[in-house]
Amino acid sequence: MDFSLLHPTDQLVMIMDRIYSRGMTTTSGGNLSIRDDSGDVWITPAGIDKGNLTRGDIIRIKSDGTTLGVHRPSSELPFHLAVYKARPDLKAVLHAHPNSLVAFSIARKKPSLSLFPSVGRTCKGIKLAEYDLPGSQKLGDKIAKEFASGSDIVLLENHGVVIGAESLFKAFMTFETLESSAHLESLANQLGRVNHLSPAQLALSDTQHHLLMDDIEFKRRTTEELAERRDMVTLIQRSYKLGLFNATNGTYSVKLADGSILITPFNKDRAYVQVEDIVRVKDGMKERGKIPSRAIKLHATIYDRHPHIRAILVAHPIHLMAFAITDAVFDPRTIPESYILLREVKKVPYELLYTDYGAIAEALSEQSPTLLVSNDSIITTGESLLQAFDRLEVAEATAASLYICQSIGEVVHIKEREIEAINKAFNLK
Ligand SMILES: [Zn+2]
Repeated sequence: MDFSLLHPTDQLVMIMDRIYSRGMTTTSGGNLSIRDDSGDVWITPAGIDKGNLTRGDIIRIKSDGTTLGVHRPSSELPFHLAVYKARPDLKAVLHAHPNSLVAFSIARKKPSLSLFPSVGRTCKGIKLAEYDLPGSQKLGDKIAKEFASGSDIVLLENHGVVIGAESLFKAFMTFETLESSAHLESLANQLGRVNHLSPAQLALSDTQHHLLMDDIEFKRRTTEELAERRDMVTLIQRSYKLGLFNATNGTYSVKLADGSILITPFNKDRAYVQVEDIVRVKDGMKERGKIPSRAIKLHATIYDRHPHIRAILVAHPIHLMAFAITDAVFDPRTIPESYILLREVKKVPYELLYTDYGAIAEALSEQSPTLLVSNDSIITTGESLLQAFDRLEVAEATAASLYICQSIGEVVHIKEREIEAINKAFNLK
């Protein structure tokens, strides 16, 4: 979907609906605006149900100051205008009070931007603005001062966050990534020692090979390919709804009978992925006119090494990520179902994911079909897409139970003798 071709009112309704339905604002909290190419500002209204906003509710502030619309503009209009005045390059401003960023704003601390690569890539810096009265020009001036110094993300003391960007969709991606990282940081702090990526480590993830592949034209589409495209789209959209993915993070792939690979596209919003967005790759060449995920080479290496693997998922669910960014050990011998599906889950070093695909492929086996990658992701594999997806869901549920257990009592794992009995009963090698 090309957001730049949508009318400002439609963009505002769409993104507010997404923020509200993901639980990142309440019905009365939060406001969004867009500055169009003529300089007019379009902003969400004051006192209207955010769960039920329509195009006709949006207010237009013309550059001469005239206000058009059936409602009052958001009470935070002064700071939106102050930010636009301070930063002529910005076209959208997003403000909300999501739980984790509010927690940081109450503690008056900035969240880390170096827990995993996409937060480092999306969020370049964050400033803290001093507290002031909501809706006041003084608050606007304090926020605008931080934007004027070059930051696109400003956390407001005892209030929430303001994000400016070149488009509303970009502001939303930054917002979603930052809130999920802040949530992750708060969980991980209670689980163990948190590791942060250095700038050099973050830079490793900026791979280019997916952009440089030659094109190939596919003339025939087998019914196998069509069925896999359909099932991938269903599970990708479901994964977004379940919080296993965020808008531009998370990669699913499937190997077809002829050896070619279907994989999620690079930099496309996961919430709206359609069958035509999925990219087919064969013999190192990509389907004409499309760009595959930057993880394509890793997926291809794993398929080459393990002929029985037919699906690979790379995702970032919050509880598993809390294990991935800390020194806590993730041992799935918690309930028989977790052990049977996951067996042993190794944690591999972050660098390997970008510098040694062979070592990642080598770490996978029938006894270890799932890997945690430090400060990056979880990789699950399967003989089918559904089996790999089942492993991902079970792994996240297992991590959540282990996390909750901390506040109840010591974790007691299933004993070795009982594991041997499971192996025998379920024919596990
Ligand atoms: Zn507010």
